[in-house]
Amino acid sequence: MSSLFPALDAPDAGAGRPALRFADRSLTYGELRAAARSLAVRLDGAERVAVWATPTLETSVAVVAALLAGVPAVPLNPRTGERELTHIVTDSRPALVLASPEDGLPHALSGLDRLDVTVDSAESAPVGRPPAEPDDPEAPALIVYTSGTTGPPKGAVLPRRAVASTLDALADAWAWTSADVLVHALPLFHVHGLILGVLGPLRHGGSVRHLGRFTTGGVARELAAGGTMLFGVPTMYHRIAEALDDDPQLAKALAGARLLVSGSAALPLHDHERIAALTGRRVIERYGMTETLMNTSVRADDVEPRTGSVGVPLPGVELRLVDEEDGTEIAAYDGETVGEIQVRGPNLFTGYLNRPDATAAAFDGTWFRTGDMAVRAGDGSVRIVGRRATDLIKSGGYKIGAGEIENALLDHPGVREAAVTGEPDPDLGERIVAWVVPADPTAPPSEAELADHVAAQLAPHKRPRTVRYLDVLPRNDMGKIMKRSLHG
Ligand code: ATP
Ligand code: MG
Repeated sequence: MSSLFPALDAPDAGAGRPALRFADRSLTYGELRAAARSLAVRLDGAERVAVWATPTLETSVAVVAALLAGVPAVPLNPRTGERELTHIVTDSRPALVLASPEDGLPHALSGLDRLDVTVDSAESAPVGRPPAEPDDPEAPALIVYTSGTTGPPKGAVLPRRAVASTLDALADAWAWTSADVLVHALPLFHVHGLILGVLGPLRHGGSVRHLGRFTTGGVARELAAGGTMLFGVPTMYHRIAEALDDDPQLAKALAGARLLVSGSAALPLHDHERIAALTGRRVIERYGMTETLMNTSVRADDVEPRTGSVGVPLPGVELRLVDEEDGTEIAAYDGETVGEIQVRGPNLFTGYLNRPDATAAAFDGTWFRTGDMAVRAGDGSVRIVGRRATDLIKSGGYKIGAGEIENALLDHPGVREAAVTGEPDPDLGERIVAWVVPADPTAPPSEAELADHVAAQLAPHKRPRTVRYLDVLPRNDMGKIMKRSLHG
């Protein structure tokens, strides 16, 4: 297999092109090559390394160096608590942790040797001979822990071919080229921010401008200054949608972007519609997982994507829907028969680290069970209904997806945030419970009003039986709602 980063090997004419910028520090391709190769020399021979994944140049250089040296890297979320961090390092046993010199590391990492990553923007030759990038497409490139939305995070072992194939499939779907400048504010310890957001532009020869911290002002500034794409999670697009009313600069900047992409969780319809109305631009959604990298996406040339759709399977990815009860494949493309998404293709991981049981349970033969439920329309486009474990409510003989009720609630002017879950009920099997953050906490809409609103928008059997009011919904670092902690 050839290099993951052909642009790094480009003849010297390409060396002066911008590669990475984080806040006010940047590296050209030539500087990145020098920095990553020097570090790769120092990593040569290590079995596995952890990377203290702050949103910085250092993290990006550390990961590129590990990939060049063929040393699997485990990105660590700097905001993880001691207990979870201990779980991750005990599970993955890295030889070293790579960090920026100014980072203080928590106690959980005190047993690991530390290697400081220093990045200076003067190009210099590596001290020693850089190791050859591995040839084997199955060689593990990264071990990325899942977000822990539904249980303790599991380490997904991602081979080089999965990283290469997912990025190449996205290049096809999004017409992603070396001319693209990605505006990015996501964390670097998950697939979205690290593989798509940093390795993607580097593989395609384009550049990244990372904001350090997400602000709508930063997004507006960087898009206006030449950014062509924006990657975000739904909470970011929600903040953008809210800011648009009073910020014509932001609306203009978004209107001028080539591609606005959302992923990691469903983008509520309300935000989709607001952004489209105020900018004339559609946010496109892609759907993926740590274990599978990207599975589907709305294509950049799709002028009328179905609202709420995560698009069509990416090139090379096979996708089927399977009946939850009897495990048979669903043949219908009718937009209404719900089944579990199963996928297979070169984008898949090789397994969970140290968890052969969990790996075996995740597969149905050669198909990976995503645990996500969806319907498929006549054009092959997929709409996610929710997660099988937390978003599919079985009430009164119906199977009801939490997502559409959440969308209906968010459409009520008195609702700021909403999550829907099922709770055991002696009559119905499960009852629909709505968790609502009111727009005005001093005058929340009543339970009856919200229930009627949902029933009028959807159907009477989708009416929440209970409404619980909260100040804020529990979310993880990617802004995903942690439904398992709602009932706890
Ligand atoms: P864990 O597996 O540890 O419980 P997690 O599933 O949230 O956590 P990730 O691998 O980061 O960890 O997230 C993948 C999940 O995110 C998918 O299975 C899906 O439920 C959800 N997801 C990703 N993109 C989208 C999208 N565009 N629309 C709806 N859901 C999405
Ligand atoms: Mg998962």
